[in-house]
Amino acid sequence: YANLTPFAEPSRVRVSIRLRPRNTDDLQFDADFADSVKLQPELKRLKLWNNNWNSESFKFDEVFTENASQRRVYDGVAKPMVEGVLNGYSGTVMAYGQTGTGKTYTVGQLGKDDISQRSMMVRAMEDILKNTSSTFNTVEFSYLQLYLEYIQDLLVPENNNIPIVEDSKTGEVLLPGAEVVKVRDLDHFLQLLQIGEANRHAANTKMNTKSSRSHAILMINVRKLTHGKVDNEVSTMESDTTNDLQVNVEVPTLRKSKLLIVDLAGSERIDKSGSEGHMLEEAEFINLSLTSLGKCINALAENNPHILTRDSKLTRLLCDSFGGTARTSLIVTIGPSARHHS
Ligand code: ADP
Ligand code: MG
Repeated sequence: YANLTPFAEPSRVRVSIRLRPRNTDDLQFDADFADSVKLQPELKRLKLWNNNWNSESFKFDEVFTENASQRRVYDGVAKPMVEGVLNGYSGTVMAYGQTGTGKTYTVGQLGKDDISQRSMMVRAMEDILKNTSSTFNTVEFSYLQLYLEYIQDLLVPENNNIPIVEDSKTGEVLLPGAEVVKVRDLDHFLQLLQIGEANRHAANTKMNTKSSRSHAILMINVRKLTHGKVDNEVSTMESDTTNDLQVNVEVPTLRKSKLLIVDLAGSERIDKSGSEGHMLEEAEFINLSLTSLGKCINALAENNPHILTRDSKLTRLLCDSFGGTARTSLIVTIGPSARHHS
C-alpha cells in the first residue's frame, strides 16, 4: 500500500478502499493475524499491523468497511463518474487488489438472483440507460480482456488479437474488430455480460490458475443529444463578434463520452524465481501493465501533464479516458487477513 499513499491527496484521481468480510479461508489460514487490518472510516484511514505488531497507517479518499453495501460503494465511487459521462466527460473506474479480495464482486458481479448484489458495471449501465432514453441517444459497449498484451473480445472470444489504433485527429482509442453492441435495455446488457463472464472464466480455467491473470475491461460509449447551455468546450459561438448579442442560445449538442470499468488482474506479486516459460512471461506482462498504470496514476495525482501511456497495452487502451478532462477512480480491495498484506 505504501505506493498508494501519495494518490490519496485531493486530485483528479480518487482512491478508495474496500475491505471484504472475513470468510472461512481467512480464519483457517491466518487465525493469528485475522485482526491485523483495521479501517478507520471517520479518519478515512487504513491501519495495518505486521508480524511484530507494529502498525502503519494509510489515508484514502473514501473508506468502505466490510458492512458497506454494493449500493453505497457504487454511489460513492462510480456514480459521480456516471454523472460525468452523461455530461460529456469520460472516466475510468478500476478495481485493484489481490485475487480473492473482492475486485470482481465490486465491479463485475451480475446479481442475477439478488439485485442488491449488483456491481458497478450493472448499476452504471442501469443509470446510463435511465438517463439516455430518448431515441436521439445511443449507448453501446464492448467487453474485452487483456492477457499477455493480447486483447481478446469477451463477447466473441475468437477475436483474440485486437489491435489498438489511435485516431490521429481526435486522439480517440479505436479497437478495430472488437464487437460493439448497441444496448436495448438492462436485460439485454445482463445477458451479454454473463456471456462475457463465462468466456473470461473459461479462459482462466484454460490457464490452469485460480487467480485472474487478465484484466477485464468494460467500455461503455455514450452519445447523448443535449439541449441547453453548453458547459463543455463544444460551443461554436465566437465570443468577440457576439458581444452585443448575449442571447442565451439553446444549442443542441451531441456529446460523446466513454466510461471504462476495469477489473484488473490480481496484484499479488508473482514469484518470478519459481516461474518458467509461460508463467514467467505472464508475470512479466502483469507486472509491466500494473507498473505502467501505477506510473500514470502517480503522474495524474501530481498533476504532471506528461502521462506516459505508451508503456503497456493497458495504459494505451485507457489513454483517451485518463487525464485531460477525464476522471479516474481507483478502488483498492483488501481482505482482512495478513496473507493479503502486500
Ligand atoms: P477477486 O475478483 O478480487 O479475485 P472476488 O470478487 O471473486 O475476488 O471475491 C472473492 C469472494 O469473496 C467471492 O466469493 C465474493 O463473492 C466474495 N466477496 C468479495 N467481496 C465481498 C463483499 N464485500 N461482501 C460479500 N462477499 C464478498
Ligand atoms: Mg476476480
